[in-house]
Amino acid sequence: MLACGLAACSLPYTGPPPLTPEATSATLPVSTAAALTPTPAYTAPDTFTPSQYRLVATLDFAAHYLAVSQYITYTNNSAHALELIPIVVPISDELLTLTSLRYDRGLEWGSHMDASGGLIELFLARPLLPGDELQVELEFAIAIPERPVLLGWSARQMTLIDWYPFIPPYEAAAGWLVNEPTQQGEYLVYESADFDVSIYTVNAPALLQIAAPAPAEQRDRAYHYQLHGARRFVWAASGHYQAETQLAGEQRIPVTIYYFEEERAAAQAALRTAVASLELYENLFGPYPYESLAIVECIFPDGMESDGIFFLDMGYFRRYDGTPRNLLTMLTAHEVAHSWWFGAVGNDAGQEPWLDEAMATYAELLYYEQAHPFDLDWWREFRIEQWQPDGTVDSTAYELPNFRPYVNAVYLRGAQFLHAVRQQVGDQAFYTFLKDYYAAYDQQVAHTADFFALLQLSTGQDLSEIIAEYFADFE
Ligand SMILES: [Zn+2]
Repeated sequence: MLACGLAACSLPYTGPPPLTPEATSATLPVSTAAALTPTPAYTAPDTFTPSQYRLVATLDFAAHYLAVSQYITYTNNSAHALELIPIVVPISDELLTLTSLRYDRGLEWGSHMDASGGLIELFLARPLLPGDELQVELEFAIAIPERPVLLGWSARQMTLIDWYPFIPPYEAAAGWLVNEPTQQGEYLVYESADFDVSIYTVNAPALLQIAAPAPAEQRDRAYHYQLHGARRFVWAASGHYQAETQLAGEQRIPVTIYYFEEERAAAQAALRTAVASLELYENLFGPYPYESLAIVECIFPDGMESDGIFFLDMGYFRRYDGTPRNLLTMLTAHEVAHSWWFGAVGNDAGQEPWLDEAMATYAELLYYEQAHPFDLDWWREFRIEQWQPDGTVDSTAYELPNFRPYVNAVYLRGAQFLHAVRQQVGDQAFYTFLKDYYAAYDQQVAHTADFFALLQLSTGQDLSEIIAEYFADFE
């Protein structure tokens, strides 16, 4: 359904992602091109300039239709001259209508789209040199489907997760970090960016509330948001939300839960857990990275983390039993931790999912240890031991047969690995490392090798035996 621009329509897709820097030499084989035109020795800019995403969205609530004008200002922060810029489209071609795409260095672009989304490739007439800016403008619309999914609506609410195209991170060694979809877990990789989002609504219920990852400013009959240093901007809208807010920590971060009326007691418990875990993680990891936090009771299964906002399945609220021994409490503590490990410190969710998932799972233990010490043994049995987890922590989201072995290897063995490290190095060195890791990789994409190098440097200990026990590819 994507409209194509000019002759680019006939360009064949250059192959499956990930794209490598070499793939940008479109007209000549790499070796020939290199021989004719030696690559100039560029240096990367001194400072990282985050991409700017300006999104102006009009939601026709009754028609379930979202029209969006998107403006991206992308800076080449690498030491390479970029001749091709990929744009990841996380939206099914059955739902998306792209009406216009313009950019300031060319006219030719191609796309490769299917029901799970795809990729647009911008071919640049002039290479984007280190420090150069590229402006991209898109106009598109989404017919939001009636489904309990990340981008969908039900009678209760509408959730808008991964609702716009974005430029993925680029790395000198690996090229563009673009993964194939998988049902196993998240696979998209996001660069830390700044968002300026305006949401207009039409045909909306009188009691409409928007759950968003930043404080709202209401003017000109629209909601305006600024979110800095975030992986993505996601939101939800409903005429049925109840909302309750508490302030957390010394920064007095407003934490708001959006829930449905019949789950008031469970929602208040989740809010208390979110506030307590946010305050604990500020002590253990460092300052909370955003201005606010929203928790959204959702219709789609399980949970979903994002920057400054997360979603938890209605079923967890319904099964809340008034004690800390339940999934609602455990997963609230888990999702809050993703603000640090996913949001601030990014990672490749497809190739190295343990970097955020093991950290968020281990944060559950840290929360129970602090807030509910008498329930810690329950957590250990319920969360970890009953599954007798096996598998290697550095499994990708592609190599295990289904979700349970994936969780066992990446989340559960990952948490066991972190606990083994903590037992060897001691609490003080372990917590020092967590703070060092956050400070060193805030706004960046960290990799397993980075994690290990800093772990050994920060703790001053040789951890190769523990690493070899839990990981396949590192000794
Ligand atoms: Zn998680």
